[in-house]
Amino acid sequence: VTQTGDRPIVIKGGRVLDPPSGRDEVVDVYIADGKIAQIGGEVPQDVPVIDAAGLVVSPGFIDIHSHAQTRLGLELQALDGVTTALDLECGALPVRDYYHLATEETRPINFGYSASWAVARMHVMAELPLPTAEAGQLPLSVEVFQRNQHLKRWHDVASRTEVAAIIRLLEKQLEDGAVGVGILLGYAPGSGREELLQVARLAQAAEVGIFVHGRHMSNEEPQSSVDTVLELIGVGAATGAQVHICHLNSTSLRRVDDAALAIASAQRLGVRLTTEAYPYTYFSTGMGAPFLARSNQERLGITAQNITYLPLGRRVENNEELEHLRNVDPGGLCLVDYLDPDEAGDLDLLMKSLTLEGGVIASDAMPLVDTTGAYVYDDRPLVQTRTHPRSVGTFARTFGWLVRERNALTLLGAVERTSTRPAKMLAESVPAMRTKGRISVGFDADITIFDPQTISDRANGMTPLPSTGIVDVIVNGNSVVHKGRLVPGSSAGIAIRT
Ligand SMILES: [Zn+2]
Repeated sequence: VTQTGDRPIVIKGGRVLDPPSGRDEVVDVYIADGKIAQIGGEVPQDVPVIDAAGLVVSPGFIDIHSHAQTRLGLELQALDGVTTALDLECGALPVRDYYHLATEETRPINFGYSASWAVARMHVMAELPLPTAEAGQLPLSVEVFQRNQHLKRWHDVASRTEVAAIIRLLEKQLEDGAVGVGILLGYAPGSGREELLQVARLAQAAEVGIFVHGRHMSNEEPQSSVDTVLELIGVGAATGAQVHICHLNSTSLRRVDDAALAIASAQRLGVRLTTEAYPYTYFSTGMGAPFLARSNQERLGITAQNITYLPLGRRVENNEELEHLRNVDPGGLCLVDYLDPDEAGDLDLLMKSLTLEGGVIASDAMPLVDTTGAYVYDDRPLVQTRTHPRSVGTFARTFGWLVRERNALTLLGAVERTSTRPAKMLAESVPAMRTKGRISVGFDADITIFDPQTISDRANGMTPLPSTGIVDVIVNGNSVVHKGRLVPGSSAGIAIRT
């Protein structure tokens, strides 16, 4: 079984998991026309068979936070069991062009974008030309954002005329199918709260969510990580918009407990808040990020040596070097330790954000860069590339580390967080998500088959080694990974838009 098109397949003898019904049983699954056509009973025998004996048959993983929106990036995510990867935090602009180009180039798994508030701001306030498809190429949206962080004024309060222009530009993206608005608030911490309210009202009126990287990241007051959560609760309560808090684990730092209590209380009162986390004690960003400045390191609980500059493949030596690198390569990717994996208390904090009531797992997958710091768009040996391991290992790590090794989640609970719940989170605003996230008749045949005994992330350094134990990945009824190997040139992914 490789590229099957719309031909039927039988997945035979696997342990089928479906969180909403509680189904956890060994049963055959019959797929036809890209949908799950039958579960159990007499399934047709004269069609290609995937032998899933001893394996788990899960609804495909849905990653609502992936900046790795190239063929290569999404192939590596497919090898991590992901069947849908959306960039909802940074987002893209103009989304029409990004959807068009990705559709032309084809993608192995389903893809989509929110409207990028950061790029809209850079365009309106700092005259950044909007990306256009030249010679059939568009720069990754996250690269456009990272490389232009140094632009003047866009971190600060916009004039009324500018706010109106930003809102108009975002509104156009929503008309063009953007999945909500992505708000990198933490990179423009001086922006106005009234502007944020206006963006949330726009989203609420369009019946889509906002996906926010919170304003402040600090263990210390004022402007602590708790302020960040309170601001977003306020925006949700004040507008009725769906507010999604991105990577709660990293923006909350060591203030996860208070953040979690505040979120739970607001949710009980009916504020439409959702959260995500990824299972690593270090985050990734561009060197020029405002919060990495020397003056902010104490608030973050780090020193310069907690920062690894990916192009050099080593830790920054001191603040002089950090300042230099921030100036010469503001978009250069780095890794930053925000927790100490050898501290039991720190691991407890990470576990708390990963197991928060109602939360989901999302990777925050980053693009690959090479040793010169350039973002990688072509296919090349992985050993020549670097990225945060979360880009390729988040989902296998969830099942290998959190479920099997630490018993922090049940198998069914982990499927809920990696598939069922992210689909549900978007179902109201995005019709295509209503038939994802379950192994149930009539649902899309986006399916991940893995070995619960061996599933593991392997990317624990800087090289993006693909995960192991993911045996078969099916997207819209097509095999994208078969017997642990990528099916070359797969074009099974479709655009997810409102
Ligand atoms: Zn972020």
